[in-house]
Amino acid sequence: MVHDAVWARAGMYSDGGFLCVGCLEKRLGRTLRPSDFTDAPINDLDNPWQTERLASRKSPQPNPARGRAVLEHWRAIKPRRAAKPH
Ligand SMILES: [Zn+2]
Repeated sequence: MVHDAVWARAGMYSDGGFLCVGCLEKRLGRTLRPSDFTDAPINDLDNPWQTERLASRKSPQPNPARGRAVLEHWRAIKPRRAAKPH
């Protein structure tokens, strides 16, 4: 979630719709930076549902390890195949 001013600059209404990082940056004409994001819990850097790109924009320094955390989360929740009967 970005600040209202950033959202408005992208031509979006307050509480209206969603944009991916790429579309939002295209509309803004620049890369998102940590100060663009609110302190809403969804912006928590430990949120496993964010993409590597989103995490990199919220991090003071881009950290590729955050993308790996997302992958590890997916692997952890992926249903396992049932064990073969004997
Ligand atoms: Zn998009």
